[in-house]
Amino acid sequence: MTVTCRHGASTSARLAIAADGRQSRCRAAAGIDTVTRAYPQVAITCNLRHRRPHHDTSTELHTAVGPFTLVPLPGLRSSLVFVVDPDDAPRLAALSDVEMAAEIERRSHAILGGVEVEAGRGVFPLTVATAARFGARRVALVGEAAHVIPPIGAQGLNLGLRDAATIAEIVAAAHRERGDVGATDVTERYDRMRRADVTSRTLAVDLLNRSLISDFLPVQGARGLGLFLLDRIAPLRRAAMREGVLPLASQPRLMRGEAL
Ligand SMILES: Cc1cc2nc3c(=O)[nH]c(=O)nc-3n(C[C@H](O)[C@H](O)[C@H](O)COP(=O)(O)OP(=O)(O)OC[C@H]3O[C@@H](n4cnc5c(N)ncnc54)[C@H](O)[C@@H]3O)c2cc1C
Repeated sequence: MTVTCRHGASTSARLAIAADGRQSRCRAAAGIDTVTRAYPQVAITCNLRHRRPHHDTSTELHTAVGPFTLVPLPGLRSSLVFVVDPDDAPRLAALSDVEMAAEIERRSHAILGGVEVEAGRGVFPLTVATAARFGARRVALVGEAAHVIPPIGAQGLNLGLRDAATIAEIVAAAHRERGDVGATDVTERYDRMRRADVTSRTLAVDLLNRSLISDFLPVQGARGLGLFLLDRIAPLRRAAMREGVLPLASQPRLMRGEAL
């Protein structure tokens, strides 16, 4: 692989690990297609300062248009992702900081007290995208270059970390055996090792998201019951949280705290 930068400098290697996000140029260069589907939802993101402490707890409110998720940052700050109807997104995105703060307090039932919105907002149409192959032609895809899922249940970054830990493990093994670290069997093995984890996560997040926007009462009931049981049964909750960070199906060494 030869990567050439905008100003002309170039570097060559047996394997390029593409961590260049959802519009990955490396993925395009390797000729890897993606299967993509858009949701009728838009995520608005911003950071907040607030009066009440978050106690290092993330809060996800489920609304009829999608989740409203507060993720704790150090101190009296949190990051917010709230999913809205695409028709409502331009109005919300254009609110002044003061108007946005009032809207957030209303939607969050003021659980963090009064809020102030910090500079820098994002607007992301929700999509799900999965690369047809996670590696080919001396390119291995990690993170959103390989898979994009809606921001529900905080799974995206964890998936990307497991990608990185897995390709590191496979490459270290190939290097130890004095093999070609970019060979087809290396990239194919990487694809096999990541497929089940990515597919199961994508399906779970897709199902949860569909259950939020579905008007079908039994679906709403099943989701409510599932969340109720998670809330009430501590071992079940701990198992679900463990599965979210380090699923049984994918435990690369680096994620278990072991050396390569
Ligand atoms: C609204 C929203 C909320 C989310 N919330 C959560 C959450 O709560 N928890 C969670 O786990 N995940 C969450 N995610 C998912 C998480 O953000 C992604 O999984 C993660 O950022 C993917 O990391 P990445 O490195 O693959 O891609 P990115 O973060 O997109 O990084 C790609 C990098 O590559 C760079 N790049 C691209 N092309 C080039 C180029 N040609 N040359 C040089 N550099 C280039 C970009 O500048 C960028 O810095 C959320 C995503 C969204 C959209």
